[in-house]
Amino acid sequence: MPEKFKLSKKEKEEFKKLLLERKNSIIKKLSQFYRESQEIETDTALDVVDKAETSYTKEFLLGLTDSEREQLQQIDQALDRLEKGEYGHCQVCHKEIGKKRLQIIPWTPYCISCQEKIEGGTPEK
Ligand SMILES: [Zn+2]
Repeated sequence: MPEKFKLSKKEKEEFKKLLLERKNSIIKKLSQFYRESQEIETDTALDVVDKAETSYTKEFLLGLTDSEREQLQQIDQALDRLEKGEYGHCQVCHKEIGKKRLQIIPWTPYCISCQEKIEGGTPEK
């Protein structure tokens, strides 16, 4: 086991808050998408958003861009790691991600050097 990333209870709460805020804003955007969609009734839209709290259906994820979808998953995984006390470690090299980086991208599963490697391997732009 790698040494636990030392986060105070207060810091954990702060990161959790940041993660949940981001998650809520993605979900809010989605409910907007469903409200604007003429094929789906408002009730269904709300139902879909409700369900989104626990699981993501295929239809639900249709309203998201690839990066938002990915971000939503990363947020959930980060929340999970926060619960387990594993939060703040890179999922590739297991080194500490660093609080500064986490404050900017609290859902990131990677440290900066692994992120760069990953992005370097799959150029998108
Ligand atoms: Zn790493």
